[in-house]
Amino acid sequence: MPLRSATRLPCLLACGLLLAQVVMAAPSERGFPLIQTYEPTIPEATTQSFGITSDPRGVLYVANGSGVLVYDGAWWRKVPIPGDTAFEVAADPSGRIAVGGTSEVGTLAPGPDGALRYVSLLHLLPPGQRQFGQVLKLVATGHGFAFTVERGVLVWDGTRIVTVVSSPGDRPYPVLFNVGSEVYAWTREVGISRLTGTRLAPVTGGDVFRGRRVDQILPAEGGLLVSVREEGLFLLRQGKAEPFSPAGSRWTKQKRVLEGLRLPDGRWALGSILGGVLLLRPDGGVDQVIDSSVGLPDDFISGMVLDRERALWLSLNNGLARVEVASPLSVIDRRSGLQGTVYALARYRGALYAGTPAGVFRLDRDTAGGPGRARAVPGLPTAVWSLLPVDGDLLVGTAFGVFQWDGVHSRLIPGTEEGTTFALARSRKDPERVWVGMDEDVLSLRRTGTEWRFEGKVLDEPIETRSIVEDERGGVWLGTQSKGIHGLEVPAGWPATGSPRRRRVRGSEACASLSWIDRRIVAACGNKALRLDAEKGELVADADLASLGGHGAFEKLAEDGAGNVWMSTAPPSLAVRSGPGWAREPRSLVEIAAREVSVLQVEPDGVVWLATDKGLFRYETTAPGKETALPAPLLAHGTAGGRTLFFGAAPGASPQSVELPPYLRRLRIEFAPLSFRAGLRYQTRLDPIDVDWSGPSPEPFTELTRLPPGDYTFHVRTLGPNQELARETAWSFRVRPSWYQTPWAFVLWFALAIAAVGGYAQLRSRALRQRAARLEARVAEQTVELRRTVEDLRHAHAGLAAANARLEELSLRDDLTGIANRRHLQQMLAEEWSRAERLGEPIAFALLDLDHFKLLNDTRGHREGDQSLQAVAHFLAESELRTGGLVARYGGEEFAVLLPHSDLGTALQTAEHLRDGLENLALPHPAAPLGRITASFGVAATIPVPGQRPEMLVEAADLALYRAKSEGRNLVRAGVEGSLSSREAEART
Ligand code: GH3
Ligand code: MG
Ligand code: MG
Repeated sequence: MPLRSATRLPCLLACGLLLAQVVMAAPSERGFPLIQTYEPTIPEATTQSFGITSDPRGVLYVANGSGVLVYDGAWWRKVPIPGDTAFEVAADPSGRIAVGGTSEVGTLAPGPDGALRYVSLLHLLPPGQRQFGQVLKLVATGHGFAFTVERGVLVWDGTRIVTVVSSPGDRPYPVLFNVGSEVYAWTREVGISRLTGTRLAPVTGGDVFRGRRVDQILPAEGGLLVSVREEGLFLLRQGKAEPFSPAGSRWTKQKRVLEGLRLPDGRWALGSILGGVLLLRPDGGVDQVIDSSVGLPDDFISGMVLDRERALWLSLNNGLARVEVASPLSVIDRRSGLQGTVYALARYRGALYAGTPAGVFRLDRDTAGGPGRARAVPGLPTAVWSLLPVDGDLLVGTAFGVFQWDGVHSRLIPGTEEGTTFALARSRKDPERVWVGMDEDVLSLRRTGTEWRFEGKVLDEPIETRSIVEDERGGVWLGTQSKGIHGLEVPAGWPATGSPRRRRVRGSEACASLSWIDRRIVAACGNKALRLDAEKGELVADADLASLGGHGAFEKLAEDGAGNVWMSTAPPSLAVRSGPGWAREPRSLVEIAAREVSVLQVEPDGVVWLATDKGLFRYETTAPGKETALPAPLLAHGTAGGRTLFFGAAPGASPQSVELPPYLRRLRIEFAPLSFRAGLRYQTRLDPIDVDWSGPSPEPFTELTRLPPGDYTFHVRTLGPNQELARETAWSFRVRPSWYQTPWAFVLWFALAIAAVGGYAQLRSRALRQRAARLEARVAEQTVELRRTVEDLRHAHAGLAAANARLEELSLRDDLTGIANRRHLQQMLAEEWSRAERLGEPIAFALLDLDHFKLLNDTRGHREGDQSLQAVAHFLAESELRTGGLVARYGGEEFAVLLPHSDLGTALQTAEHLRDGLENLALPHPAAPLGRITASFGVAATIPVPGQRPEMLVEAADLALYRAKSEGRNLVRAGVEGSLSSREAEART
């Protein structure tokens, strides 16, 4: 591994220098860089991260509030550290990772299972020095790591921790910086010094930074780039510090730069806490600012690192992002001020113009080096579908006609108002003429002086022309939306003499647009490209064009200066020129996740514009688009049955060959690409079972089930979106034979057989005895259990009955009949009694008992008895209103009527009324003398006097009832008792 990266280094430098020049010369029509945000799949990960680094393999480590998060391009894992929060993380070229937390410093090292774990270095410090607080800065030294805490600078050289500088412990604290393979430090007492071993040696000229505040030191050509707080940037070279980059300095002062690194192309990336990242060109010019206005999730940069694909990873106060700072692709979209989908592009007077439904937009280069700004051009119409620069003018085709614009004034060309102009093309044969393709017709414009004027209608048929190409002989070819390709012959003397003739190209139904590719007219027909034979007016299959087809449907083609062909597939693709034709496999621009490409425009300087539904993409073909090779995949995690770990992905711990149990249920191997580019897939092969590689799959793992005994080798490789193939990674393992298949197992089998036969009977009887005993014990156990349960139930039942009785008691209504119960009656009696006593009024009470009711129950059953009770209660309750009394069930088949304000005479009348009514109700009672239900009544009345109790009234009524019963039933009798006024009444029907 280290060897490989060492060999790449010179190339990186060379490429970097080359790129540096390109970047300096690049126009800033460039758009926003592509930004991808990441969310770790670890549930306890905090959104706040404090730093990020990468090991030589390309694995990322993020210092997070939950520990160290590890990301390999496919899997997120977490390494916990004491105190949870990791504030600093650093890697050295040998793959050692160091972590700093709160009063914690240590390394990540492989555990016995190959997974990473935290190993504290705290024991190397004397106990009194272990509470050093937060690790403020951590850098690799080559032998180990150096770190700063409030009290100074400490170095771990691999065996011990040495204090290099002791500080007073107040701000500003000392800081450390990695500059290439060297470590620089800044302290307020000394300024800038360099770490050699465990000593800090002052740097010539570094003392000028004494007492100031250095926030960042980065490598610069022949020296150092130093960022000083509240001052700006300086170049320290040959002992002299000189101010550098006024524009960059203004920015760093304002945004407070704390992070930084140098890109391989010579630019610096400066990370601030208030304004995102500044990319500074080697000449000090501002290249671009990448902040939240550009799409970063946050402006607070807490750490940055470059991945092997030269993309910049940022750890943020809120989130993680990857910015493709070296990509030839950038995008202009709503953030740039562009509105609507671009349907037309043209370069006019040096500037790029885009036509959208919202109007015409001019792309202005940003003088400060930021992304280009799209500005709506005032005075031009909306609903723009086509643009054509003609000498000093721009023709603008819209839904309202064709406009001629000279950069200041625009005028509608009369005669073009009808229909939408989708295509504008200048005649090759006659440059004073422009063809206008509309939805319903095709027109010709002719220049007269400085004005373009309507010349005539060349075609009056609604074929919806979308592209126009003129062949060498002056023949006009029309590509349409859905009506195929048409040819148009316009006679030389037209419009004065002759008339144009149209003919349809046979077999062109599937073809959309036409374009000039490699000196031929090529039609885009579904997913193939066909050549138009202009002489014959036919489409022909061209062997050279064959490789453009078969990669998905496209409607547009464009050729760039190098002869490469751009195709509007989804995602867009590029067929690279190869001999007379093009490479068989096109490069696909997976980074452009667009579904539709409406315009492909190639510029002489090599820039290609792709107008899509996701914005206007700019592709700089002059930038070395050479992709870094895909690394061999990493075997990240190997488990069996979801538990046992065979290997993790700790640096320096390659998966060991293991022996696995036979027919293992689930062997899971997780791998990782060590790359973050889009569109990666994997192929696997298990020797000796698979003959060939599996089909590419985006899943970064494999599960193998029930492998028979044998020796195996698992192979995996990564496949990029453009068929880039990574070297494979392999892992060998052995599945043990089952124990019963081994020779000594057969001996055992034999011995067992003999023992089995001999001991069978004995074993069996013993087993039976044991079983009987076990059963007995269980029955006894369960009996006890059952008894306990019954007891519990009984208790519960008794409790329930008591509770019900209590409830009944509390209730004022009788459950069966729904009328007042005895409780209620007694309450009312007490109330009415005292009222009558107070007012000197009479009060009466009647008690009635159903006759021979037991007989009814006995002959018709209890149920019918209940129903009869309900019927009687209903009857009495109905009469309650009329009598003005209170009717209650007194108990069993006895009812009571309380009659306030009634004297005995009135009460007897009421009772007689009720008795009569009940008899006439004729509730059936077959066993009774009358064959119906009747009742006997006892009535008593009084005017209460002090010392008398209501019970006496009830007793008198009860006595009277007894008399009614004994005297023949179905009678009303009055009670005679003490001072109760007595009168006897009898009524018999
Ligand atoms: P008599 O008219 O002479 O009093 O005859 P009797 O059968 O009514 O005599 P007794 O008072 O001895 O019997 C009362 C009977 O009423 C006993 C019981 O069968 C019945 N009874 C009491 N409460 C209820 C009840 O809520 N529902 C039903 N169906 N019957 C009840
Ligand atoms: Mg009774
Ligand atoms: Mg009775």
